[in-house]
Amino acid sequence: MKPRHKGSCLCGKVHYEITGECQSLYLCHCHRCQKGSGSVHGANLFAQDASLTWIQGAASVTTYHHPGTLHVRSFCRHCGSALPSVDDRSGWVTVPAGSLDTPVPISVTAKIFTASRGEWVKSADEAPSFDALPQSEGQ
Ligand SMILES: [Zn+2]
Ligand SMILES: [Zn+2]
Repeated sequence: MKPRHKGSCLCGKVHYEITGECQSLYLCHCHRCQKGSGSVHGANLFAQDASLTWIQGAASVTTYHHPGTLHVRSFCRHCGSALPSVDDRSGWVTVPAGSLDTPVPISVTAKIFTASRGEWVKSADEAPSFDALPQSEGQ
């Protein structure tokens, strides 16, 4: 039986299911993924011969194709959360790891486009860590 993975967006309007194996998980530091995520890197699982089913909220999914590239990003039009997409030509399903509600099934394959990694991220290695919001902040 093929493995099943479930996910959803932040506002809960969109729910999906992926049926099939995930082959790789890439942390992509390219400029497009920085813009799309507003963060350090994209984190996407790739699944060949897998199927994507929208369980709920398919009409709320918007897909952006960056002109002249293979870069595609699907998201919920209500809350902006990243959602899976299917490449029409290759059939590969791309799944944002953070959108899954079931455990991420594989470990990170590689960090890619690290030459584009933001300079500011390097200071994160020395910054202190807190399990939750620190008491001195945001009260
Ligand atoms: Zn949403
Ligand atoms: Zn990227």
